[in-house]
Amino acid sequence: MVTNQKKSRNSASVLNLDTSIEYLKGIGPERAKLIKNVLGISTVEDFLNFYPIRYLDKSKIYKIKDLKEGLPDVQLKGKIKELKEIGTGRTKRLSGKFQDETGTVDLVWFQYSQWLKDQLPVNREILIFGKASFFNNQFSMAHPEIEIEEKREQENYLKPIYPSSEKLTKRGLNQKFFQNLLKNICLQIPILIQENLPDYLMKFLKLMSRQQAFLNIHFPENMTHFEAADRRLKFEEAFFFQLGYGLKKQYHQTNSQGNPFPVVGDYFNNFYENFLPFDLTSAQKRVLKEIRTDMKRPVQMNRLLQGDVGSGKTMVALLSMLIAMDNGFQSCMMAPTEILAQQHFSGISELLAGTGITVKLLTGSTKNSERKIIHEELSGGELSILVGTHAVLEDIVQFKNLGLAIIDEQHRFGVAQRAKLWAKNRIPPHILVMTATPIPRTLAMSFYSDLDVSVIDEMPAGRKPIITAHRKEKDRISVYNFCRDEIIKGRQIYFVYPLIEESETLDYKNLMEGFDHILQHFSDYNVTMLHGRMLPAEKDAAMQYFASGKAQIMVATTVIEVGVNVPNASVMVIESAERFGLSQLHQLRGRVGRGAEQSYCILMTSDKLSNESRKRIKTMCETNDGFKISEVDMQLRGPGDILGTQQSGVVDYKRLDLVQDAKIIKASKETVEKIISKDPFLSHPDHLAMKYYYQKQYRGKNKWGKIS
Ligand code: ADP
Ligand code: MG
Repeated sequence: MVTNQKKSRNSASVLNLDTSIEYLKGIGPERAKLIKNVLGISTVEDFLNFYPIRYLDKSKIYKIKDLKEGLPDVQLKGKIKELKEIGTGRTKRLSGKFQDETGTVDLVWFQYSQWLKDQLPVNREILIFGKASFFNNQFSMAHPEIEIEEKREQENYLKPIYPSSEKLTKRGLNQKFFQNLLKNICLQIPILIQENLPDYLMKFLKLMSRQQAFLNIHFPENMTHFEAADRRLKFEEAFFFQLGYGLKKQYHQTNSQGNPFPVVGDYFNNFYENFLPFDLTSAQKRVLKEIRTDMKRPVQMNRLLQGDVGSGKTMVALLSMLIAMDNGFQSCMMAPTEILAQQHFSGISELLAGTGITVKLLTGSTKNSERKIIHEELSGGELSILVGTHAVLEDIVQFKNLGLAIIDEQHRFGVAQRAKLWAKNRIPPHILVMTATPIPRTLAMSFYSDLDVSVIDEMPAGRKPIITAHRKEKDRISVYNFCRDEIIKGRQIYFVYPLIEESETLDYKNLMEGFDHILQHFSDYNVTMLHGRMLPAEKDAAMQYFASGKAQIMVATTVIEVGVNVPNASVMVIESAERFGLSQLHQLRGRVGRGAEQSYCILMTSDKLSNESRKRIKTMCETNDGFKISEVDMQLRGPGDILGTQQSGVVDYKRLDLVQDAKIIKASKETVEKIISKDPFLSHPDHLAMKYYYQKQYRGKNKWGKIS
C-alpha cells in the first residue's frame, strides 16, 4: 500500500476533488494543458478515475529456465556477462548477455548514450525487469529496467501501468511520473473520498470500502486486493446508474398521467370468442395480461415487448388495441417501412373481417383524397384503429383521443419521433414498443431500465425449428438443386442479397447479376424481384406476385428483412452472408419457418472468412434463439453498435463491461429495486450519503429523458 515517504513534500497543499491538476506537484499550466488534451484529465477526481491498464508484480523473481512465451513483464536476478556494441549507424546497438544459474537471455539497447553504457553494472548481482520475447530459439529483453538489489525501494504493492502515449512520454510524462503523481494523490484519499454506499449493503455484499477501493485500484498489495477493489468500483458504477433509472421510473409512475382503461368489453370479447383463429400461446397470454394491468391504471404505460420473429406479437398488439377501443379510445400502430405497414394493415383487416371494425392505412403513398378522409375520421373519432408509417407522426394528423400507440420494430424509430407520439393527446397515450431484435439482458437492464419489459419466449405450437446450413460457392449447384426439390414440393424460395449503403451501386449490380443467374437456372419457374429502388406500386406488385404463389422465387435485398410474411416460403438463401450482421441474419431467417413445413436457411459465403464472420455464421447454424444470438452479437460488436450509432455512448461506463459484468449489473439492479421500494425518497439516514452522492454526480447526466 502507499507508504508515507513523500508526505512532507506534499502535505502543504490540501487537495479536493475539484482541484485543477495544474496545481499538482510537477504539472503546472503547460503540462496540465497537454494532459487534458491527450487524456481528458483536468481535476484530481479525474486522476483518481484514471485507472491503470495493468500491474507489474515485482515480488516474483523468475528463473531463466522457467521463461515461457507470452508471459507479462518478468523479473530476473543475475549478472550481465558481456556487453558489446554491434552494427553501425542506424543499426548500431548495444548487446549483452544476462545470466542466472539456470540459463542466459540476450539483452539489447537500440538507442543508448555513452552514459548509459558506462552505468550498466557488469558482473554484479542485479535485478532486471521487462518483457522477455522469444526469438531465434533464445529469449531476449530490450531496454530492461535495472535495479541493484541493495538500492531497491521497498515496495509492497504492484506497480500500476497507466494508459499513456508517446506524446506524453516525450515530454517526460512517463510511467514513473504518473506513478508518483497518483501516489501523492492517494495519500490524501482519507480526506478526498467519502463512502457513498450504506454500511449494511457493503456488509451484505462483502464490498470493499470506497477509500480502500481507490487505493487498491492504483496500488494493490496483490491481485486479490485488486479484484476486490475492481468489484467494488464496478458495483458502485452499476448501482448509481440503476439508481438513476429507478428513481426516474418511480417519478414517472407517480407523476405521469395516463388514460385508465378499466374495462374489457364487447369489441375484445367478441373478437376473442368468435374470430380468434388460433389459441394464444401461454407467453402471449401472459404478456397480454401485463399490458392489460398497465393500461388499467391512470399512469402512462411504457412497455417494451420483445419477442422473436414469428412469436406472434401482432396478435398481442391487436388485442391491446381492442381493449383501447372498449374504453372509447383510438389506437395507432406504426411500422418502419411501407411494406411492413401494408402487411400489418392487410393482416389486421383480415382478422377483423366480419367484426364490423374498420382499420385504415396511412403511409407516404396514401392518395390525397383518401388521406383527407382519414384525417377527418381521426379527428372526428369515427376511425378507431390506424396502421401506418412515419406519416402518422405528421402534425396534420390529429386524433380525437389517442389512447394507445404501438411501435413495431422499435430500433428504427428515433427518440424524437417517439416524442411526437406523446404529444398527440393531452394525456399521453400508452406506448407499446415491439421489437423482434431481442436485446441482451444486461443491455436491456441498462438501456431500457426505465421501461417495463415483456417477453414472448415461446413460439406458436407446431413450428419446426429452421434448419440452418453454411455453404460455399463450390456448393452452389447443389444448393440450387435443393431449392428446386423444395419448389417441386410446392414451396417458395427467397434469395437475399446484401445492400449496404456505402457501396450501393456495386450491391445493386450484384443483385441484378444474381437475378439473371437465377432466371437462367430456374427458367421453368417464375422469379420476381424486390429492392429499394422500386416504386411503391412496383414493390407491391412484386410482393403480391410472390405472396399469391404465382412466383416460386423472390430475389430481394434486405427490404424484406422486416416483417414480410409468406408462410409457404420454406427456403431462405442468403448470399454473401458474411456481410450481414448477426441480428440482420436472424431477422432474415425469420422470413421462413412461418408455416407448418420444415424450413431451411442457407448461408452462402466466400471460401475465406474472417474469424468474426466465421463466429457469426457458426452461431446462426447452431441456434435459433434470438436472445442467444443477441448475446453473441454484443460480444462481437459491443453494446454501442447494437443500439445503433444514434444511441451509442448512452451506456458509457467507466469500468463496467456489459458482457463480462452481467452478474454485477443484475445484482445492482435488484439492490436498487429493493432500496427504492422500501425508501422511495432515500430519506432514511442510512441512505443519505448515497442520495447526496447521486445528486452531485449523476443528476442530469443521463442523456435520455423520460421518453423511451
Ligand atoms: P411477429 O412476432 O414476428 O410479429 P407475427 O405476429 O407476424 O409474428 O406472427 C407470425 C405468424 O404466427 C402469423 O402468421 C400469425 O398469424 C401466427 N400466430 C401468431 N400467434 C399464433 C398462435 N398463438 N398460434 C398459431 N399461430 C400464431
Ligand atoms: Mg411482426
